[in-house]
Amino acid sequence: MAESLDPGALAAAAQKARKAARDAARKAETTEKDAGEKANILPPWEQEAEGITLVDTHAHIDGEDFDVDREEMLARAKQAGVVAVVTFGDTMEASARVVKLAASHENVFGGVGVHPENAFPLTQADEDSLASWTKAKNIVAIGEIGLDYYWEKDEEKRKLQRKMFARQLALARDLDLPVCIHDREAHGDLMSILKTEGRKNRGVIHCFSGSWEMAKELLKLGWYIGVDGPLTYKNAAKLPEIVQKMPADRLLVETDCPYLSPLPYRGKRNEPAYVRVTAECAAKIRGESLVNFAEQTTKNACEIYGLNF
Ligand SMILES: [Zn+2]
Repeated sequence: MAESLDPGALAAAAQKARKAARDAARKAETTEKDAGEKANILPPWEQEAEGITLVDTHAHIDGEDFDVDREEMLARAKQAGVVAVVTFGDTMEASARVVKLAASHENVFGGVGVHPENAFPLTQADEDSLASWTKAKNIVAIGEIGLDYYWEKDEEKRKLQRKMFARQLALARDLDLPVCIHDREAHGDLMSILKTEGRKNRGVIHCFSGSWEMAKELLKLGWYIGVDGPLTYKNAAKLPEIVQKMPADRLLVETDCPYLSPLPYRGKRNEPAYVRVTAECAAKIRGESLVNFAEQTTKNACEIYGLNF
């Protein structure tokens, strides 16, 4: 490891590179191919929201993507029936911003943690900061934490991710808080960590991308599973089948905004109101009404994250 370089600066540079790559990927997604589906669809905030109570259980609304219209964006979510948003930090800096957002908005809850793509050797001082932030108003979880082998190919850095993940899992156990886990192309290592050190943790595997077999194992271990925009994509692969088979009391819906906009908004900035699009898709797959599906998944969100609103 490049110990001589400031880990904070390295993490910031890595985050910048990741954001650039993601923005480029987002822009490259042509919206043209989905143009047909755009016809006759009103944005979620212009549709009837009577009786709909949704929670966007995984968002990143602290970043600059939302600096221009954060309050309006939250108002649109409310109009669409989104009664609460759980937003997650992915660096120390972002986590500090999440604490401020959660403290200043009744319907915004937060998680603090460091994302695997921004992995660096956590110091005791960093851990102490994370622990103290969890005492702030509306902070309900440790996250976003986990493993990402898609963006990280270097074995040494993957090792660092695992170390950091294990440390943040331990912190959550000490604080008796749920965790929100990111897992991209790291299913094997994730499962082995959850079966050992993480045996006594609880929480959510967000943006689930594994198989039904893996989902079943996670359910057995007590985990919740979150799904987002990709459920609506034509290449959703095994996800619709998993959503159909999932027990009602372990499923959550989320946006992961500003990324992963559902159809027909793919390629554009995502925002919490669009969780309704994913929820509609999931409800349809399960043969349920949106109102009932929203009620059940919101109940699940309240259970795992202890939300009060
Ligand atoms: Zn995320």
